[in-house]
Amino acid sequence: MRGRPFNLWLLLLVAILIAWAVSLGSPQEVTGTLPYSTFLNEIDAGRVREVVIQGDRLSGRLADGSRFVTYAPAPPETQAVRSWAEQGIEVRVKPPGSSMAWPGLLVPLLAIGALVFGFWYFSRNARGGGGTDGAFGFTKSRARVLTEAPKTTFGDVAGAEEAKEELKEIVEYLKHPQRFREMGARTPKGVLLVGPPGSGKTHIARAVAGEARVPFITASGSDFVEMFVGVGAARVRDLFETARRNAPCIVFIDEIDAVGRRRGVSMGGGNDEREQTLNQLLVEMDGFNQETNIIVMAATNRPDVLDPALLRPGRFDRQIEIGAPDVRGREAILRIHARGKPLADDVDLAEVAKRTPGFVGADLENLLNEAALLAARDGRKRITMSDLEEAADRVMMGPAKRSMVFTERDRRITAYHEAGHALAAHFLEHADPVHKVTIVPRGRALGFMMPKREEMLHWTRKRLLDQIAVSLAGRAAEELIFDDVTTGAENDFRQATELARRMITEWGMHPEFGTVAYAVREDTYLGGYETRRYSEETARRIDEAVRDLITREYRRVKALLEDRRAVLERVAEALLERETLTAEMIERLVQGLPPESPEKPPGGEGSGLEGRRVIPKIKPGGALGGA
Ligand code: ADP
Ligand code: ZN
Repeated sequence: MRGRPFNLWLLLLVAILIAWAVSLGSPQEVTGTLPYSTFLNEIDAGRVREVVIQGDRLSGRLADGSRFVTYAPAPPETQAVRSWAEQGIEVRVKPPGSSMAWPGLLVPLLAIGALVFGFWYFSRNARGGGGTDGAFGFTKSRARVLTEAPKTTFGDVAGAEEAKEELKEIVEYLKHPQRFREMGARTPKGVLLVGPPGSGKTHIARAVAGEARVPFITASGSDFVEMFVGVGAARVRDLFETARRNAPCIVFIDEIDAVGRRRGVSMGGGNDEREQTLNQLLVEMDGFNQETNIIVMAATNRPDVLDPALLRPGRFDRQIEIGAPDVRGREAILRIHARGKPLADDVDLAEVAKRTPGFVGADLENLLNEAALLAARDGRKRITMSDLEEAADRVMMGPAKRSMVFTERDRRITAYHEAGHALAAHFLEHADPVHKVTIVPRGRALGFMMPKREEMLHWTRKRLLDQIAVSLAGRAAEELIFDDVTTGAENDFRQATELARRMITEWGMHPEFGTVAYAVREDTYLGGYETRRYSEETARRIDEAVRDLITREYRRVKALLEDRRAVLERVAEALLERETLTAEMIERLVQGLPPESPEKPPGGEGSGLEGRRVIPKIKPGGALGGA
């Protein structure tokens, strides 16, 4: 076998060059990159003919036939995409990263793909099958294997108490698998860690391996995304081959959404490869038997785009959320990373934590590192508070800043807004009670109130009305306190309006309209849309009824908050102070007590990062976002 790889590589290189040359002949008049705002103007002016959406990269053709590329600040909202489609623009959605931008290259490359696959296949068979590194290691997974257990332990992970608690079971299983088997328990296989970049998903997975003293094998979803059909799947096979050789062990797959996106949702071809890769992953996980002591941990920020097949029992059936840390979590993380760094006496890490809302673990680590660099540059022996402050600014401004940073005024408004939601949920009899409320930003929301969702299959009319009132309470609180309103309630209104409209058109809950199905909803890849089955006249009456219903609920909830203004202020101030309040804390604040009972020393439970099991959502509504 030796010696042959070289020839194959040479062949491949030549073939690619030929393909390239062929592709140069095909026209590709790209006008260039448009600023996103210009693109929106073009849309408004009706000068866009076709748009291809790949994550936040938008490309397409203008009415005059020229091509353009633009980058949106974030992948466009379904709503916007739908409205473009309604304007007659030809909209296609593709998975980000599939580079279909070279149609000219595609055909020759496919031919080469077949060629390479053929070589790979034969060489594999020549070695009596089962060989996984193929002819030239092309199909080797790029997994990084730590054959020794990592040194990281749970002691190195600050906060995240709930997440650690859940992961302890995995540690136990890896340490004593026979105990689990003797009990006849179904052994865990896959854990999905959900959270924004830098929040410590890799870190905590590594700590699980460290605690259990097993090897930690990492790969990234993007390693498996390749042009050639079959390569990704072969790499997955190789990854699990490695894992089996090292079992018991942990396989960590970062960015699982790169391979695990919902199959068949994206239009446009080029998904075969990804589909095969995903299938291979499922096959491997299903192939584990009682003796396979492998735990697969995967990380993502987008659990919503994952293929449902991945989340079935026996696969990634556990989800653990690793959110951005709150003020105490940040302090704990700072303490961990300050170990071994000489700090001056004036340094107060609690103060630094207070000033860095929105920072995730990676940002805080970066902050301490920058501060150390600043001190070293000035030839000082210790890191001072002013170093830390300057470092915080740098991290905040710097390109590496990954999460949201917001001003004191934003925080105040958010605190009152979320306190409004929380109190409405608390006081309205039929609304889902508060689970927790936070002003730690997540995703695009500046804060959110998470209701304790009771698993009721039936949404009663009273519950829906109270739910609408809860959605509107954020805005009501803003108006009450600041005598002005902000744009932050857009999402709330959307939720409230949607519920109100569906009460009338689908659920027969409005006396005037009776039990008639006016609208039929269809779920498509672009989200649900409704088919209207009513006249213009009825449409107008529905609009009016929706508005009346919403106005009535808004008045009701505003009056409720007005009557309890003192409580609202207490809750909002407590939120500003602590950033996250639990149901018990809100209950105490409502009763006029301090948020925490005196027997619990502050910071005692050390809960900083949010780690909790994600509760599957029932249809209407989710957490009520503040932005
Ligand atoms: P993710 O995988 O979520 O993108 P990482 O696990 O790579 O994030 O985290 C980046 C760095 O941030 C880690 O190397 C770790 O040092 C630090 N970090 C994140 N969260 C924590 C935490 N809870 N405690 C201590 N350090 C943390
Ligand atoms: Zn809100």
